[in-house]
Amino acid sequence: MPVAAIADYDDNNIFARILRGEIPNKTVYEDQWALAFHDINPQAPVHVLVIPKGRYVSWADFSKQASTEEVAGFVRAVGTVGEMLGLEAPGYRLLANAGLDAHQEVPHLHVHIFGGRKLGPMLV
Ligand code: IMP
Repeated sequence: MPVAAIADYDDNNIFARILRGEIPNKTVYEDQWALAFHDINPQAPVHVLVIPKGRYVSWADFSKQASTEEVAGFVRAVGTVGEMLGLEAPGYRLLANAGLDAHQEVPHLHVHIFGGRKLGPMLV
């Protein structure tokens, strides 16, 4: 078990505080594995973040430490939210910034869902 990665998790990061109910959020969906809420600074007509409820910074943490049930629950939540938001037919984009080079600002694993208009080509 990579304990160092768990120790690196900052319990005061903004998403940890949202999960504890210390900071308000506009919830779109919640279940035992995940919380989805509107991004505070939307980059598209629909911009929702989906986060796992567990303490994970990176995809490496998540893939190594989360149970199969937890991984499945999170992935299912992403799919459910896309469908709930009516984005399945028109389409949407998933994006996950991971680490420094990708400008991951919040050190709690998250997936962005963008939609609500025709999106431009993917930028790298
Ligand atoms: P990152 O760059 O992939 O880490 O994206 C972090 C996202 O979190 C950004 O799109 C921010 O606008 C968003 N964000 C930061 N604080 C809050 C908040 O309190 N509520 C909702 N979204 C937030």
